Amino acid sequence: GHTLRLILGDQLNLQHRWFSEIDDATVYVLMEVRQETDYVLHHAQKILAIFAAMRDLARQLRQAGHRVHYVQIDDPSNLQSIPANIDALVAQYQAAAFEYQAPDEWRLDEQLYQHGRKSAVPWLMVDSEHFYTTRNEAADIFADRKQWLMEFFYRQMRVAHQVLMADAKKPVGDQWNFDAENRKPWRGEPAEPSDPRTVHDHSLLWRSIVDAGVNSFGDPKADRLAWALNREEALQQLDAFIANALPRFGDFQDAMSSKAWRLFHSLLSFALNVKMLNPREVVAKAEAAYHAGHAPLAAVEGFIRQILGWREYVRGVYWAKMPEYAGKNFFGHQRALPSWFWDGNTRMNCVSHAITQSLEQAHAHHIQRLMVIGNFALLAGLDPVQVHRWYLGIYIDAFEWVELPNTAGMSQFADGGLLATKPYVSSAAYIDRMSDYCKGCNYDKKLRVGPTACPFNALYWDFFQRNKATLSRNPRIGMAYRQLEKMDSTTIADFQRQAQTMLSNLDAL
Ligand code: FAD
Ligand code: SF4
Repeated sequence: GHTLRLILGDQLNLQHRWFSEIDDATVYVLMEVRQETDYVLHHAQKILAIFAAMRDLARQLRQAGHRVHYVQIDDPSNLQSIPANIDALVAQYQAAAFEYQAPDEWRLDEQLYQHGRKSAVPWLMVDSEHFYTTRNEAADIFADRKQWLMEFFYRQMRVAHQVLMADAKKPVGDQWNFDAENRKPWRGEPAEPSDPRTVHDHSLLWRSIVDAGVNSFGDPKADRLAWALNREEALQQLDAFIANALPRFGDFQDAMSSKAWRLFHSLLSFALNVKMLNPREVVAKAEAAYHAGHAPLAAVEGFIRQILGWREYVRGVYWAKMPEYAGKNFFGHQRALPSWFWDGNTRMNCVSHAITQSLEQAHAHHIQRLMVIGNFALLAGLDPVQVHRWYLGIYIDAFEWVELPNTAGMSQFADGGLLATKPYVSSAAYIDRMSDYCKGCNYDKKLRVGPTACPFNALYWDFFQRNKATLSRNPRIGMAYRQLEKMDSTTIADFQRQAQTMLSNLDAL
């Protein structure tokens, strides 16, 4: 009998050992299903890029001689759910066994596990052969610590995988972390490197997605889709990043600009998360660039920390804390998302720019996600579950295992500080230091009250004031409370009134 092997849309890993042998009795199954397009409202580019990349992988597998059964979104036989399609295909092929790679999302892991328990054919889950760490590794490393410090985990990874190490125990450059050097604003120099991505026309596929009734938002860019859709394109993009952007990655890692949306970032998160690229090869190429004298240590270390550190770490948090993690709401925030989350139509220049860019590109870099959009959401007390669903939908690289800990944990402090040592919030001062947004804004970055005052200012002080009981004992935020103590009661009443006015009508900001 046949063995069916399921390949999920984020498992496009041609180097998996599954593909090392060609066997006519093995049928690789890929499916485009409403179950996956509809679990949250998605950005058009995300649906389109995943389907296009799945089709490309199917093409490559066939070319290599493998048998592939591909279920398109508009196939009449498509039952639009993964278990239902599996059952139908098991019957059609009279399959003797079913195999799948470990899903990264709890939702799918649970669904396939539950379905397998009832299955009449043997049901086997194998490793996806992508990550450095196992699902439980972070939980084992942290055991029952109250706070899970990324830096602690990251150093263990550096040692365990001998990345940027001078010897078995000592880091290159005698220092683990060069973040202090990586906080420069960008004022237009050096020029942003050109966009390294290949452009594709997928108008026909986009038509069939729309005709199938799939809802989405954001600009589909169907005739100029600019995400890597196979391993070859992803490797070209990686090489271009190393050559042209990595040397400045560190300097401008936290910078934001209305004139450059990508700056010196890699735009590789999509290729990594759908597993066209392996994190080891990305890390190895970056490390080699340092040893070749092409890129400074601070840039290379900063980049590697995102992948060997943060990326593996958030995955570990996810597997240790799901499914409860998805419902965490430390501050009890309940407010709905203002309407401009869906169209970018706010007078706050920084927020408008970050959201408009996200709608156009399905991408924003880390500081836009954290210190503009996420910062506003936390200060304004938006419901973290709604915030999570928005992030899960809009970004090209958003898969729950990486999106949820970043959004709920790092950005919204919804886990009460397991992941972040303090809430990531700021007034206008930080945004102004790291960007050029405030210059072109309708609001005045220096004012705290009045109709033209920057909303971030009053909301910032109101956030600390209203959360005094829970936050004032945190030594990492002592500064804010010392400043609050110096304010007289009229000042406090003034910004509280200003905050109340804004919070009662966020749509108008
Ligand atoms: P670069 O700046 O070039 O970084 C290189 C790589 O490091 C990225 O491709 C990514 O794989 C990895 N990386 C960087 N930061 C992180 C991080 N904090 N956690 C995990 N990996 C990281 N990243 C996602 O991949 N998917 C998400 O859904 C996602 N949601 C986020 C939500 C919020 C609220 C925040 C603050 C961050 C989120 N991130 C997410 C992390 C980060 O913003 C993106 O990985 C990054 O912007 C992707 O762009 P890039 O490839 O150009 O990254
Ligand atoms: Fe954003 Fe305030 Fe600056 Fe305007 S003034 S860009 S709202 S931080």
